[in-house]
Amino acid sequence: MISKVLLKNIGTLVSGKIEEPVLNANALWIEEGLIRRVGDLRDMEEKEAQVIIDCAGTTVSPGLIDSHCHPVLGDFTPRQNQLGFLDSELHGGVTTVISAGEVHLPGRPKDPAGTKALAILAAKSFANFRPGGLKVEGGAVILEKGLVEEDFQEMAKEGVRIVGEVGLGSVKNPEDAAPMVAWAKKHGMTVMMHTGGTSIPGSSTVTAEQVIKTDPDIVSHLNGGPTAVSMEDVEKLVTQTSLTLEFVHCGNPKVMVDAARLIVDHKALHRVIIGNDAPSGTGVVPLGVLRVICHLASLTPIKPEEAICMATGNTSRVYKLNRGVIDEGKEADLVIMDAPMGSVGNDALSAISVGDVPGVSMVLADGKIIVSVSRNTPPAVRQPTVVKP
Ligand SMILES: [Zn+2]
Repeated sequence: MISKVLLKNIGTLVSGKIEEPVLNANALWIEEGLIRRVGDLRDMEEKEAQVIIDCAGTTVSPGLIDSHCHPVLGDFTPRQNQLGFLDSELHGGVTTVISAGEVHLPGRPKDPAGTKALAILAAKSFANFRPGGLKVEGGAVILEKGLVEEDFQEMAKEGVRIVGEVGLGSVKNPEDAAPMVAWAKKHGMTVMMHTGGTSIPGSSTVTAEQVIKTDPDIVSHLNGGPTAVSMEDVEKLVTQTSLTLEFVHCGNPKVMVDAARLIVDHKALHRVIIGNDAPSGTGVVPLGVLRVICHLASLTPIKPEEAICMATGNTSRVYKLNRGVIDEGKEADLVIMDAPMGSVGNDALSAISVGDVPGVSMVLADGKIIVSVSRNTPPAVRQPTVVKP
């Protein structure tokens, strides 16, 4: 078994930590799937490595985390009748997707026993199944009328860690939702809430006022999924709460840009996370998270390295995942990227800052190479090479 992996000649190392987005280091040492050292190659025992990845001066960042996905079971989405959509997203540099609710299950049960069973099944199934090596945090319970505190206790014990978007099930108004949200939090779950216009028949339109009264952890798609709240509501959520604020690809791009400017003014960059919100009516978008990073970094004052932290360390913090940042003891989920061929940018970050999707040339999970060249991004100018000593 390969346990010692060295990454050397890193040109730029994005940390995932928004307070210090770029690290002064050119090498990473990985052992048994975890990052063990971050620093200078001269301080590492190159001869002891079992695999050496020469990054050729390119950019390394934590694997991207998609904070908003609607899987069901397996690597198939009934929403768009598409196979392999999770593996496709992995080729967009995403190493973890977080379920926002298995809402697209055909015939989805809407009684307490059924919604609970679905969450437990999805959580346990995805704990054992990694499409292409991608980590899926599955099993996000959809709140339905009739759930009681013991249900949350049981689900937590069985591995359910997320409440999918509040508002997708029969529990809609804050009076019904707030007690359930409190039980979920008490049992260690992270709670997201659909915000904005109605997404699918049977779900609801949610205003800032309702979000504030319900008190989730995350304002799902502040920029709409796909229909956004008003800018007055955006302002309320940014300035009057400390909630985590999510931008999604399948949302309203103008509200994303306007909201991002407001967030910069209020110094709230640490509260922003990035999701895809696919599969949805907008489709399946393998490069959705990378595209939001490019939109934010090219159309707003947010820097490219900050936008990457919004799709890595910010998300792992709110979901309590041991990944998403470059630090000792963290899971070695990594993306190696560079400017795409033909870009006016000369490295990944400068390409992103002009709005070009970077070329992903390698993806690792737990220190193992799971993508050696992305089939979905344009080709990178410089490619890492693998050397086995
Ligand atoms: Zn939604």
